[in-house]
Parts: sequence; C-alpha cells; structure tokens
Amino acid sequence: MSTNLSEGGSRGADEPPNPSNLKQFQSAGRGFWSHVSDADWNDWRWQLKNRITSLEQLQRLMPTLTPEEHAGTMLANSKLALAITPYFFNLIDPADENCPIRWQVIPRVEETHTALWEMSDPCAEDSHSPVPGLVHRYPDRVLFLVTDRCASYCRYCTRSRLVSNASGYDFHPDFERQIDYIRRTPSVRDVLLSGGDPLLLSDEKLENLLGRLREIPHVEFLRIGSRIPIFLPQRVTPALCAMLKKYHPLFMSIHSNHPRELTTEVREALGRLADAGIPLGNQSVLLRNVNDDLTTMRALMQKLLMCRVKPYYLYQCDLIAGSAHLRASVRKGLEIMEGLRGHTTGYAVPQYVIDAPGGGGKVPVNPEYVLSRNADRVVIRNFEGRIFEYPEAADGTPLVAAPREIEEPELV
Ligand code: SF4
Repeated sequence: MSTNLSEGGSRGADEPPNPSNLKQFQSAGRGFWSHVSDADWNDWRWQLKNRITSLEQLQRLMPTLTPEEHAGTMLANSKLALAITPYFFNLIDPADENCPIRWQVIPRVEETHTALWEMSDPCAEDSHSPVPGLVHRYPDRVLFLVTDRCASYCRYCTRSRLVSNASGYDFHPDFERQIDYIRRTPSVRDVLLSGGDPLLLSDEKLENLLGRLREIPHVEFLRIGSRIPIFLPQRVTPALCAMLKKYHPLFMSIHSNHPRELTTEVREALGRLADAGIPLGNQSVLLRNVNDDLTTMRALMQKLLMCRVKPYYLYQCDLIAGSAHLRASVRKGLEIMEGLRGHTTGYAVPQYVIDAPGGGGKVPVNPEYVLSRNADRVVIRNFEGRIFEYPEAADGTPLVAAPREIEEPELV
C-alpha cells in the first residue's frame, strides 16, 4: 500500500498538522494496483470499473477498518452507496483512524444517527423544482441535475437522498423537459450543470447538452460543478478539455476539502482545464476532523491557487441526515475565516456561507469587521484588531472634510 501521502495532514488527536508537508504536491501512487498497466491506470473508465464498492473489498484493502467503519459500510448501501476510485483510495492512510481522506469517503455508523433538525433535503431543492432535475431558486439561474452518479461518494453529501440511488429516490433526468423549461424562461441567464457529477457523462453526451444550452439566446453563462478532478483526474483528458473550450463562457467549480487531495495528478488535470480557458473555482465544506483548523484550511487555499483555482465558497456543512459527526461549528468556521482574511492573499480567501435550512439560499457569514455604524461614521476593525473610523458620506454628497476625531490619517 502506498503511504507516501500519509505524512502530510493526517492528525492524531493531539497532533497539529504540519504546514510544509500539507503544501507538498505528491503523486497518489499505485498502492495495491502496482500490477496494473499504465494504460489501464490512466484510463478513467478502468478506474470507475475498479472502484471499491463493497465491505469485502474494503476489508481486504484496509484491514484496519474500525468497528464504526465496519458497521457503517454494512449499512451504507441503504443510504448512500460506498464507492471509492482506486486512485483516491490511495490517498487514505490506513494506519490513521483520523485520516482526513478516510473520514470523507468511508461510511461510519454515525450516519445512522439522525438529529431532529437534520433533513434529507436540507436545501429544499425538490420543492424548488419546476420540472424534475431542475432547481430554480434564484431569479436568474438554475441548477441542472444531469445524473445521480459520482466517481466516489462523499459521506456528507447534501444530495445524498438522490445520488447513488441507495435510498430508492430513482432520479431520472428528463433533458427534454429541463431544456424546454430553460428555453421558455428568459430570466435564466446562468445554468449550472451538476448532479451527481456531470463529468461522468461521455464527452458526446456532455457536448450535446452544452451545445443545446448554448443555442438558447438568453443563456449567457454555463457552469459545471464537479468533484471529478479530485476523485478521478484521469477523466480530465485533452479531448474533454478541447470539447469544453468550445462552449465558453464556461466556468467550473471543483470540490476539494483537504490539501492532500491536491496531488501532482490533480494539479496536472486542473492545469489542462485552465489551459482550455476555463476559470476554476473551488467549493469546500467545513468538516470536523478533516479541515476544521486554520493550518489545514490555509494550506488548502494556498495550494488551490498554486493549481490555478480560486477558492470560491467555504460551506457550513448542511443539516443532512446523519452528518453530525462531520459537522464543525459555525464558531470554528468564523475563527478560520478570521485567520485567513488579511493574513494571506485575498484570492486565497473564500466566502464562508450557510445554505439556509429549508431553501433560503446561500447566506454569507463573516467575522464582524463593522463594529458600529451611524449616519456620520462607520467604526471598523482590521485583521490585526486595530480600530478605525471611516466618515460616512451622504449619498451623492461629496465628502468635504474628515471629522476631527479620526486619528489614523492613512484611512482617509
Ligand atoms: S461528488 Fe458532490 S454530488 Fe457526489 S457525493 Fe460528493 S458532494 Fe455529493
């Protein structure tokens, strides 16, 4: 088993992560699959075909499975399926029960514990769907679900009611009706393809969808949300990139939660997408035991920039049923944001958001930098905790003089 990644980021309970290890780019290695040919290993379809999907496989590859993981895996296929690509499996440190990769993809028995406030559809997507598979919550954009399959399944997935079909949701997108709705709704200028993972579609199928959406005159902007560059970088082939670049403006949001996920393979895949002119953003979920400390989060954000990806959102984990063991507190999220803003490159600072339970949409959550505000002045503090006043200007009225009590001339 390859453990060449195990030094960077696995945490014992009292062991802080090592920032310089976290920021190194390493290959995931071959691990148990050293006998596999390069052609197979680098073939995304081979990776999908050889995913770890059963308790038997998992036990064989990882005899260190804990009782919680064993019980969770036995129950997984009635809730959210188990699937891990061989490539991504190699990032797990089998010797470390607290391995941040392991916590994201190996089921745990805690998934069966549901708190009163947890939901199967915390963002109320189903009640905002004018046609099946299309979520229209915000005025000018829609979420277009194209599949219920992913390369691997994240145990905290907000769409776990639907993805993998383990709980019998039976999702069948109807592309004709979805596209027809967009065509008939001129306010929709932005379409986000998601799922499941849209990059699991063949190039031909994906191109057909992108081409049909591009033909709609009021659709200005296309986006793809995908975790494939992280779970299955082999899928990001030159042919896929050449196809995608025909449909600009096309943005892509990837999903990465821990710096160890950013391997040399991932960096190369993201480079291919960036070279195709696709602006890349990252969405992370704040997860207990995975990335809920400043050192790890800062390393992730800085490493994303090194991969040409702008950190976009940091999500407070949704109230998805059975996710309490993975949910970090909002207090922790604010503490991390406080430690990023001003302390590192502005591009490396994502927007921390809570997707308001029940379908309220994304609400930005920020540490308090405005201490007070009235008609004359705003009192603010900076990242170092120093306090400043900014004289308020009446709308449309030029500010002619700074109030005398301002003590910091560089502010004016
Ligand atoms: S890749 Fe996205 S949709 Fe798929 S399981 Fe993970 S979070 Fe859910």
